[in-house]
Amino acid sequence: MIRSMRIRPDLAQAARYVPGKSIPDAIKLASNESAYGPLPSVVAALTEEASGANRYPDPAGTLLRARLAARAGLQPENVMLGNGSVSLCLHLVQATCSPGDAVVFAWRSFEAYPILARTAMARAEQVPLDAGGRHDLPAMAQRIEELEAAGTRVGLVFVCNPNNPTGTVVPDEEIDAFLDRVPDDITVVLDEAYREFNEQESDGLRYLSGPAARPNVVVLRTFSKAYGLAGLRVGYGFAGEQIVDAVSAVTLPFSVTSVAQRAALASLEDDAWPELSARVEEVRSERARLIAELRALGLPVLPSQGNFVWLAEAERTPALDAFLHARRLVGRAFPEGMRLTVSSPAENDALLAALRDWAAER
Ligand SMILES: *Cc1c(COP(=O)(O)O)cnc(C)c1O
Repeated sequence: MIRSMRIRPDLAQAARYVPGKSIPDAIKLASNESAYGPLPSVVAALTEEASGANRYPDPAGTLLRARLAARAGLQPENVMLGNGSVSLCLHLVQATCSPGDAVVFAWRSFEAYPILARTAMARAEQVPLDAGGRHDLPAMAQRIEELEAAGTRVGLVFVCNPNNPTGTVVPDEEIDAFLDRVPDDITVVLDEAYREFNEQESDGLRYLSGPAARPNVVVLRTFSKAYGLAGLRVGYGFAGEQIVDAVSAVTLPFSVTSVAQRAALASLEDDAWPELSARVEEVRSERARLIAELRALGLPVLPSQGNFVWLAEAERTPALDAFLHARRLVGRAFPEGMRLTVSSPAENDALLAALRDWAAER
């Protein structure tokens, strides 16, 4: 018999992160990636950096933090870097929660949150989205009050905006009202991984400086989505110095590679932006086209401000998943519905052709 190792007993039954499926030769709409590779200038920069790969990266990410800070009108001390913003999500839990403390977030939201909470031995507190797939911030504030009244310390709150996977956004006034209600020593993370695609509301940077500044707000962004660098793993966050310092205490040294730092810097060059913003613009207009056509087909599509659309197919979702696979299209199925990444016009056409058939059959 194989000897059972001394492993944390709570991990035996714990869910693992399920990545988006890749099926050979299929169109992959499962992971909200960019349809396009990095810009040639970015490939050139990272290729050059690769020849120095015998050296450790700058652990402080000095140049990249300075550049991100300057663009946001903040100081480098207000910027943190991570091996993807998903690692910053983990480090924020580790930096704010002792074992048993609560991490509050909406559900359904980003798949990684419950896993990260468990990794840090914190307790995941999930507050259902409203019927429109939107954050119910009053219910989240109430949950925080109830937990604290019952003696559970709340360490961290995630607000995923736009929300993955439903694509919905929280209106500015609702975030203001939520922050007014939540004790101001509880860290509230505005996860803005899809910020660049959001045409509707202003961004969380309004809470980082100026008259509306709040010391408990963290804004997370990533190079994985709009910048098309998902494979390099580089994300960043803006926060007050106390939070940035606490995160640095739990961050693995050298977690953002030299190549990733260099590619991110090259992506922030002024001459990179016209092409990147044209890609973002294409996603926005293709998203509008997809949503209009899916509505016309009578499919239950939600408004979206991300680079993906959400079909609230509920119990029909497994059938839709199989239907799309048969047509060599891969989306991301959840119990409540299907998330489909907005891709290039040609790939979106292929998706629309399949969904026309689906609408006729369903
Ligand atoms: C994609 C995503 C991230 C982070 O992606 P990284 O590749 O780790 O930077 C974070 N939050 C949400 C909601 C996402 O969808």
